[in-house]
Amino acid sequence: MKLPIYMDHNATTPVDPRVLDAMLPYLRGSFGNAASRNHSFGWEAERAVEQARGQIATVIGASAKEIIWTSGATESNNIAIKGVAAMYRDKGNHIVTQATEHKAVLDPCEYIEEHGCRVTVLPVDQYGVVDPGQLREAITDQTILVSIMHGNNEIGTIQPIGEIGALCKDRGVLFHTDASQSFATLPINVDEMGVDLLSCSGHKIYGPKGVGALYVRRKHPRVRCEPVIHGGGHERGLRSGTLNVPAIVGMGKAAELCGETQAEEIQCITALRDRFKDGLFTRLSDTHLNGHPTRRIPNNLNVSFKYVEGESLMMGFSDIAASSGSACMSAPLEPSYVLEALGVGEELAQGAVRFSIGRFTTEEEVDYAIERVCATVEKLRAMSPTYEMAREKKRKKRGQATLSAGSPLPPKGPSR
Ligand SMILES: *Cc1c(COP(=O)(O)O)cnc(C)c1O
Repeated sequence: MKLPIYMDHNATTPVDPRVLDAMLPYLRGSFGNAASRNHSFGWEAERAVEQARGQIATVIGASAKEIIWTSGATESNNIAIKGVAAMYRDKGNHIVTQATEHKAVLDPCEYIEEHGCRVTVLPVDQYGVVDPGQLREAITDQTILVSIMHGNNEIGTIQPIGEIGALCKDRGVLFHTDASQSFATLPINVDEMGVDLLSCSGHKIYGPKGVGALYVRRKHPRVRCEPVIHGGGHERGLRSGTLNVPAIVGMGKAAELCGETQAEEIQCITALRDRFKDGLFTRLSDTHLNGHPTRRIPNNLNVSFKYVEGESLMMGFSDIAASSGSACMSAPLEPSYVLEALGVGEELAQGAVRFSIGRFTTEEEVDYAIERVCATVEKLRAMSPTYEMAREKKRKKRGQATLSAGSPLPPKGPSR
């Protein structure tokens, strides 16, 4: 077993060797510009880009024409939110989202709010799930877009996007979902789920960084969108700029691989994650699972260890790469806004650690991590005065309970 162990797959994944193999030719001899119409270098690049577009479309039940290449899910979210807000300004100016979205959704929403839109940010329940009933009530005749993510990057909670999609169809409102954490790794069908726009990213699915895609529905209804980046008119005018052919080829291959092994990988990674969880929860008391107990993405385990602080905990097991809060928080020592939205409470939020495993994680690594994490928590708690005080209180309470209950000891008889 090699150290350190990588358990931060919700932040980014390693590139699958098969993905790298697919990319290499396009960094070597096949370096053409996919927009070059006059020679075989260009045609070859274009062919590769179109094949990859099909690979993305296939895993979500879309058609290749509905896929736009971007630099990642952040850009896809920006195009979906700012682009729809600008295009449908005459129809309405209201957008609905929810509190535990990635900043790549919340920040563009804040931006359009500063530019004349009205944004409703729905609360979530203690598991991080948005209430479709509340969403229905939030929609007005001014609402043009609902943006609710699929799998949460921090706590793993899966939102009921099928139900939300149906509700949006019913009200004639466009539905965007940030599916960065579930694209290709969980079953998604944009028609069945009523999704009109979907964001995804290459580096969350064992592909390269700096590439992503946006699904934009072309039929029932035909979604229109203002571009965010102008110049040259690539990607049906929606996203100009020379395409990153090697990265696109890599993302296509990565999506295809995930799609092919989806069912087995869900099973296998869920089993490993549950082994990890059971290992921690059996040995440690005062441990809290953040997010939904069952409706969560397979690879995410977000746990709060009472009486210990997440940052110090992670310093204690420096050979395990995990994360406190999300990787992209600008102020890492502040408690996570996602956990805050769940009402987890400051103390538990401070002790939260996100472990996220992946395709190449082994049972041996999980067992090692259980041992290291438990040993570190026990060591830190042994030094913690608040933990000692809490234990003392518990002991006293137990003592009082047995006294006040006054139940006599069972009569001693001969033991058989
Ligand atoms: C990683 C992630 C993003 C950002 O994706 P990039 O491709 O890195 O821009 C957005 N939303 C969610 C939910 C993510 O997990």
